Amino acid sequence: MTFPYYDPFGAFGAIFGIMIIVIIASCVIQIAIAVWVYNDAKKRNMEPAMWLAITLLAGCIGCIIYLVVRDPIPTDTIPIGNEAYDTQDVRPKLENGTFCSNCGSEIPAGAKFCPSCGNPR
Ligand SMILES: [Zn+2]
Repeated sequence: MTFPYYDPFGAFGAIFGIMIIVIIASCVIQIAIAVWVYNDAKKRNMEPAMWLAITLLAGCIGCIIYLVVRDPIPTDTIPIGNEAYDTQDVRPKLENGTFCSNCGSEIPAGAKFCPSCGNPR
């Protein structure tokens, strides 16, 4: 008669092995989530180190809390928006005016001579 308690390769051994695999897998997933939260918090100016610690300690619950309270990505840090605005602002000036071929100064629209060196446009 054998007791499963004394058999390392029996049912309890198998369950113990599966438990270790599940624990390791959940640790890897938790670290991956924490790294994602860290990078996402950085984009939103939200103290990434604090949220990394919260996600590592609280696991999925920490990640859910983060998703609920996180700020939207600030629009003024997105360069595409600023570039589009700058291009629109500058374009009419460049279409009407020109740059001096002699000194490189900007010649306003309608001016016959360069205001900087007097070179005809
Ligand atoms: Zn000039």
